[in-house]
Amino acid sequence: MSKYHQQSSQEVMKILGVTSQGLNDYDVQSRQEEYGLNKLVEGKRTSTFAVFFGQFKDLLVIILMIAAFISFLLGEVESTVVIMIVITLNAILGTVQHVKAEQSLDNLKALTTPIAKVLRNNQIVEIPSEDVVVGDILYLDAGDYINADGRLLESYNLHINESSLTGESLSVEKNSSTIKEENVIIGDKKNMVFTGSFVTNGRGTVIVTAIGMETEIGKIANLLDTAKEKKTPLQVSLDNFGGNLALGITIICLAIFTIDLFRGRELVDSFMFAVALAVAAIPEALSSIVTIVLAFGTHKMAKENAIIRKLYAVESLGSVSVICSDKTGTLTENKMTVQQVYVDQKVIPHDQIQTKNTVEKNLLLMSLLCSNASLTDQKEIGDPTEIALVKLGKQYNLDALNIRDHNLRVAEIPFDSDRKLMSTVNRINNKNIMITKGALDVLLSKTNKIVTSEGIIDITEVNRKKIEEVNHNFSMNGLRVLAITYKEIKPNRSIGVEDEKDLIFAGLIAMMDPPRKESKAAVESCINAGIKPVMITGDHKITAISIAKQIGILKDPSEAIEGHEIEQLTDKQLQEKVQDISVYARVTPEHKIRIVKAWQEKGNVVAMTGDGVNDGPALKQADIGVAMGITGTEVAKDASSMILTDDNFSTIVKAISNGRSLYTNIKNAILFLLSGNAGAIFVVLYATVLGLPVPFLPVHLLFINLLTDSLPAIAIGLEPHNKNIMKDKPRDIRTPLLSKKFTTQVVLEGLLIAIATIIAFRMGLQTGDTLTATTMAFTTLCLSRLIHGFNSRSKESIFKIGVFSNKYTWLAFLIGVLCLHCVLFIPTLADMFDVATLNGVQLVFIYALATMPFIVNQWYKLLFVRSK
Ligand code: ATP
Repeated sequence: MSKYHQQSSQEVMKILGVTSQGLNDYDVQSRQEEYGLNKLVEGKRTSTFAVFFGQFKDLLVIILMIAAFISFLLGEVESTVVIMIVITLNAILGTVQHVKAEQSLDNLKALTTPIAKVLRNNQIVEIPSEDVVVGDILYLDAGDYINADGRLLESYNLHINESSLTGESLSVEKNSSTIKEENVIIGDKKNMVFTGSFVTNGRGTVIVTAIGMETEIGKIANLLDTAKEKKTPLQVSLDNFGGNLALGITIICLAIFTIDLFRGRELVDSFMFAVALAVAAIPEALSSIVTIVLAFGTHKMAKENAIIRKLYAVESLGSVSVICSDKTGTLTENKMTVQQVYVDQKVIPHDQIQTKNTVEKNLLLMSLLCSNASLTDQKEIGDPTEIALVKLGKQYNLDALNIRDHNLRVAEIPFDSDRKLMSTVNRINNKNIMITKGALDVLLSKTNKIVTSEGIIDITEVNRKKIEEVNHNFSMNGLRVLAITYKEIKPNRSIGVEDEKDLIFAGLIAMMDPPRKESKAAVESCINAGIKPVMITGDHKITAISIAKQIGILKDPSEAIEGHEIEQLTDKQLQEKVQDISVYARVTPEHKIRIVKAWQEKGNVVAMTGDGVNDGPALKQADIGVAMGITGTEVAKDASSMILTDDNFSTIVKAISNGRSLYTNIKNAILFLLSGNAGAIFVVLYATVLGLPVPFLPVHLLFINLLTDSLPAIAIGLEPHNKNIMKDKPRDIRTPLLSKKFTTQVVLEGLLIAIATIIAFRMGLQTGDTLTATTMAFTTLCLSRLIHGFNSRSKESIFKIGVFSNKYTWLAFLIGVLCLHCVLFIPTLADMFDVATLNGVQLVFIYALATMPFIVNQWYKLLFVRSK
């Protein structure tokens, strides 16, 4: 049997049992049962079991296991059991967190599953690409990722990048003609398309011949590489910090251990000191808490229409100082409606076109023929600019699909935002008529005739001036203008962009795309937050200026330039100018990348929006590439780090404010954890230096670090938005989290906790019972850290931000206190944790001492920290 590429498209349709109406529901169901879902099998993930055992590789856990073993040798079986229970609990917790984080990333991914446009039951529908079956007729447009292998039925200037399969980075042109040879390599199968490649230009329809693992890529790759989520810079620096800390602590521990031995301390005691210090210092929960808070944060953002694709984006969001945004659809509604037309030298309102007048009617007919949009069952499919044309036709009972059926299209050069033109060739009254529509500034120079009611005449300078004047007036009112032109061409001739010349001017169609209601407030909020909003559009400069003025992006027209002016500037000159420009009009995607780079060179963190296939490089270059969820191509989404499900500019601003809050919250949670650890370290060091007994047992510190400290840390991570967060300037991305100021704060807050604990410890020692002393030290340390959770909520006093405004901190505090009291007062637990029974007076002292760091901290913040 010959292969699909050797058969004509009609034969392939026949073999696969498909009609020109596409598959029906019954076919789809039976094929899905036969072939399964269109999915590549994922690579194996680390099993939960392996993740669990992975937890035991941690340096701290190893130290603890040695401690447990030594305790066992010394006959302290209880200690061994407790340490082992804690280690196991920790491993379970770590595993659950790992699995949860993976799940939440999967959920985020599921929100961005690719879709495919297919013909089913004679209607074009959009379905998840997973549901595509063999025999489906698939529609491909520029920017689409191809998710199945197929044989081309039709192609219009279709260019496909197959680098993932062939390694060839240049796109190849495809067509539907049959290939004679049987054995041709993939790169030469010009009439087939393959999973994993994407459309760079043009349009096409294909019939699906293979899905899932049966596709060429499925056969080679066998397993889809489930690229692991990279750690964020913050996570990496915390990991490094943790590593360095562990190393430093090990050295200090060894030193103390040796000194103690020389001093004649018992070997076991010295060892327990060293272990206590190690446990006190290593912030076990840090990394997982950051992951949990990031996961919560991205979940919240997704609910607010911003899907984070790359976790590192969350951190950079808070530092964004420039947002370069598309106009159409992002700042405006992308709901175009035709307002006026210019035809036969008259400006006519959209509802007063005379279809009896052939010149006027022809303008409408040509606008419908040179468009791909359609209105079916009240559903609008296609580009909003073209939908506006179809709606205009409908106003006059001109049905686009019907008209296209009667004047068949024989060729097309699809629209692309570089050319800003689109052309079709239709059979009209037995003639081949090429219709070209697009931006007037591009088209006018390509016209040499004009249609009037007196017939077609040579275009004069006066005509040109008049057309330009009308275009200017339309644009001044913020209208987008399309020029419609045409010419007759010889039959049976293919067309290329070089044919878009010597055209006859038919008229102008001006449409309104109003700014989104939210845009103005969002722009204002950006400006207050020290973020520069910049509009980048393919539209006309005057239209862009008009819209930019309405939403407050631009004050003076001198802040706007056009793409061709950028070309005159060197990179250096553009850098110098970039701060003064708010609107870039008539730009191509290549200009976008230069604009991003110019801002970045000036030390800015840039968010850039994009939707087209050519936007990929600029989206990747930007610090935050933002793709449009509704109108964006799959290629743009793939290159982005964030996707807007509502395509709305104000969602970017909301995401930035979420990013800022999240970063502050994470920083506060880290401050909380590290200052608590510092407190414990100071107490242990103090006891070592003064030759006092060990103030805490390793299990005490483990209890605090893993349990009672984790909950407040997460609660701090969930601190609600500070209203004033968008009044600050963007955070300088170069300032490290663990800055000098931050470290000083860790040390000072740690000292306060240490002082309270040391006082309690000394009081305990005065009773002459070491067990009472360690119990008092442990209880004070645990309680003061729990209360300290309230301090770490904000750099302002909690009496200013609202004592009860974060209910999670209260919940965490109460659970923590409950756990502590269980350990103190339930005899079995008290035995396991080696704690003495405290009397009422001791407890009152402990509560008073544990509150002291809180009082000092709040007193300082009330007096010295000014709120905004
Ligand atoms: P942005 O989304 O970046 O703000 P845009 O969507 O306004 O830009 P393009 O879609 O690239 O920019 O359109 C640029 C110009 O191309 C428009 O001003 C219009 O004149 C012309 N144009 C837009 N859509 C079409 C189309 N479907 N057919 C022909 N010409 C078009």
